[in-house]
Amino acid sequence: MSCNCGSDIPNILIVEADYADPIWCGECRFNLDLDDFNLPKDLLNKLSNWSEDYGDWIDWETDKRFSNANTLISQHNIVGLKLTEKIRVELGENYTITFSPTK
Ligand SMILES: [Zn+2]
Repeated sequence: MSCNCGSDIPNILIVEADYADPIWCGECRFNLDLDDFNLPKDLLNKLSNWSEDYGDWIDWETDKRFSNANTLISQHNIVGLKLTEKIRVELGENYTITFSPTK
């Protein structure tokens, strides 16, 4: 599967958690399939777990953020930044990878 720019793996990537696989094309914002990346399995698992944790700061009963939401979000962003650095190392310097933190 390729993004709207026609690349299987675009050179410009964004890492952002949002109820989906957490890697996006940096040009067309297409949601890329994690399995298309030739990344080590443990890193793929960490990325999946990390994206599944997205939204843990929202109380679905009330649809509002928990009182400790800011702490949870900053912890989530710290992990996301570390995982982005690992992706950078794995994919090499031909890729521009930006981490987009949850606000
Ligand atoms: Zn694209």
